[in-house]
Amino acid sequence: MLLQAKALRLAAAGALPAYLYDLDGLRRHAGTVRRAMDGTAQVLYAVKANPDERILRALSRHVDGFEVASGGELAHLRRILPHAWTAFSGPGKTDAELALALELGVARLHVESPGELTRLARIAAARPVDILLRANLRPPSSGEAGADIVTPFGMDEHALAACLPILRAAPRIRPRGVHVHLSWGSPAPAMAGLAAHVTTWALSWLDRHLPELGRPEIDLGGGMLVDYARPDHLFDWPAYGAAVAGLRVPALLRIEPGRALTAYHGWYITDVLDVKTNHGRRFAVLRGGTQHLRTPVARGHDQPFTVIGRTGGAAGPGEPVTLVGQLCTPRDVFARDVPVSLSPGDLIAFRLAGAYAWNLSHHEFLMHPEPTFHYLDREGVP
Ligand SMILES: *Cc1c(COP(=O)(O)O)cnc(C)c1O
Repeated sequence: MLLQAKALRLAAAGALPAYLYDLDGLRRHAGTVRRAMDGTAQVLYAVKANPDERILRALSRHVDGFEVASGGELAHLRRILPHAWTAFSGPGKTDAELALALELGVARLHVESPGELTRLARIAAARPVDILLRANLRPPSSGEAGADIVTPFGMDEHALAACLPILRAAPRIRPRGVHVHLSWGSPAPAMAGLAAHVTTWALSWLDRHLPELGRPEIDLGGGMLVDYARPDHLFDWPAYGAAVAGLRVPALLRIEPGRALTAYHGWYITDVLDVKTNHGRRFAVLRGGTQHLRTPVARGHDQPFTVIGRTGGAAGPGEPVTLVGQLCTPRDVFARDVPVSLSPGDLIAFRLAGAYAWNLSHHEFLMHPEPTFHYLDREGVP
């Protein structure tokens, strides 16, 4: 198997810990996503999930564009893919970021507040800019993950109404529709329910307040589930695509998944330095740590992993063991009490490390060496 052979080679070369990204698999997966949404919604990749240069290049021919959330991401994307169709979201855009967005010609600027729109009107006096108003709706059912949390993103109906006179006085700013990102990890049926809720609200709001738009745009955001407890269970893109198509929304739809595109195509690979028992609890201490893969700490989950034995065989079941890194903090835990047999020298490949992993992590804490980076890339796009 490719992963196993690659991991053993990295270990032999002294290259651990290492990140390995499967760009071939990523291209195939992105193609599946786009086919599922074909004729229904444009697909943007949310760069903040993983801004790795080769990942952006690999995705470029398999998505309709990119969504960036800061001036830094925008400049990074433009350097790598100067002509990519780009939307710019994010609360707290500075005047300098708004000016950069105009200078670099972002295709859509997602406006987050009446205050931001007022500043944009001043900055955009000389240049036209196409915007979506980012709405902050209450999710339809309180069963949704995060439904009870009021977020600072976008605008409720009061704030949206406050944008209308600002728009009337700023003809250079061209509203195209609305943007609504409400999910931080929902399965396909819930995402389809959100799409119905959002599009019904959006069409009615736009009809009342911006009827001159004709065929408006509705960006449904990202937040498609990556289930870390069931790493083989992918988001059901065909079901989601069919459900959204079935809504027959008279608008140009767009989605902007991040994690659900890239999470499955990255591994953090390292080896076991030590196995020990303290007060009856077994620990495996791994080279590296959560300063390279903060995902399990940030989300409070066990990171799924595959064991590759020193000679290439998989490890069998064993007494529960907690996998930790080299950091001097009890929070440096990858996974707790997993019943697997581990010995020093065994290789561990943490799965679902292709999104919100390396770029989410506090690399410099304790000054251990950084991981090396490797790619499975048959197309070999430079
Ligand atoms: C983070 C974010 C996304 C991507 O979210 P995922 O959970 O990675 O799919 C998309 N749109 C906006 C506005 C975001 O903030």
